[in-house]
Amino acid sequence: MTVELISVGTEILLGNIVNTNAAFLAERIAVLGLSCYHQSAVGDNEERLEDAVRLALSRSDIVILSGGLGPTKDDLTKEVTAKVFEKKLVEDAHTKKRIKAYFERIHSNEVTSNNWKQALIPEGATVVDNHNGTAPGLILEGENGKTAILLPGPPNEIKPMFEQDIAPYLNRLQPEGIYSKMVKVCSIGESRAETMVADIMDAQTNPTLAPYAKTGEVHFRVTAKAKDEETANALIEPMVKELYKRFGNKIYTTEEEVTLEAAIVELLKDRGMTVTTAESCTGGLLAGRMMNVAGASCVYNEGYITYSNSSKERLLGVSEETLKKYGAVSAETAAEMARGAAKAADADAALSVTGIAGPDGGSKEKPVGLVYVGCYVNGKVRTEEFMFTGNREKNRDYAVVRALTVLREELICL
Ligand code: ATP
Repeated sequence: MTVELISVGTEILLGNIVNTNAAFLAERIAVLGLSCYHQSAVGDNEERLEDAVRLALSRSDIVILSGGLGPTKDDLTKEVTAKVFEKKLVEDAHTKKRIKAYFERIHSNEVTSNNWKQALIPEGATVVDNHNGTAPGLILEGENGKTAILLPGPPNEIKPMFEQDIAPYLNRLQPEGIYSKMVKVCSIGESRAETMVADIMDAQTNPTLAPYAKTGEVHFRVTAKAKDEETANALIEPMVKELYKRFGNKIYTTEEEVTLEAAIVELLKDRGMTVTTAESCTGGLLAGRMMNVAGASCVYNEGYITYSNSSKERLLGVSEETLKKYGAVSAETAAEMARGAAKAADADAALSVTGIAGPDGGSKEKPVGLVYVGCYVNGKVRTEEFMFTGNREKNRDYAVVRALTVLREELICL
């Protein structure tokens, strides 16, 4: 079965936004075992959108359109698709009720008349509830065996909708569906991780195992082809068990949506601990990662960005002597930063990062990419030295992940 993607929106064409929806959808479609031979982007223009939909339907079984489902005049996806499928737009009472409830929930009295436009659906279309916005998803199955799936543009709406409803729908269309589980591993390099599963990958049939290198992490997708989810799980579970045998507690989750920071927040919650951060070269990125997690406030009260030596002294109590003798980028400073942050924030744990992100500031003894992480947990401090080889952005990203990894390693030992 072939699937084609159309991303709708002039801002995509102009390069104002990066088309992350297409990347997300393309990856998920491949994982579901479907073929995608074409994808395109088209602006908010009726004629060109109609051409794009007609062309896509002429060569693919299913067309997934993302974006252009909003309430304004230039949101045309639904109207154009209905026209191509020769369907009238009719009001959907269920969606109208949901839109009303949505505006009540966000305490807004500003339901303008154009908001009701989102309650119109092509006659006969299946409505897919949007739990994060007002525009519902729509599945329109034509008499000619062709299907259009219309999804909202905002990534925080399209992703959960795809996972919850569209992926199962696509699976049901195939004699055998594709089901998968993500096994996420940290504290290990990509090549070492791959070597550890080389035999599995060589022998794989059903399920298959695919590695994905992420910044400072390796994710393995275990994918099974089966007639239903239960049969697929029976195939997937032994492979996941085998991965646990090999990677042990380096596996931090087997849930698709759980991030490293979310896993750490859970560990802290389980242990009834709080954490703080003291950052130099990462300048708040580490704190930002913690804040990504809904509910992080249970474990995180305050943190510190201490870029200059004087701020390290003033806010964290790093001694002048340490800074003079070892320098700001040193294990000693990282240790004092972590200890000082824990004290200042009255936290049970603290992570510190100090390093040379580049491109300038390096020397022969302390080159660009040299980063120290300090990790204070319940009175003890561990420091780690890292040597990253990327540009400024990469070095800072890696420093954040490594710091999180060190904290996780300490927490799982408690
Ligand atoms: P809304 O109901 O919010 O109007 P919509 O379905 O009409 O949603 P658009 O108006 O096309 O969607 O896009 C809304 C926002 O979603 C964009 O401003 C952009 O931030 C994001 N977005 C849209 N398309 C994409 C895409 N292909 N990749 C990443 N982000 C996107």
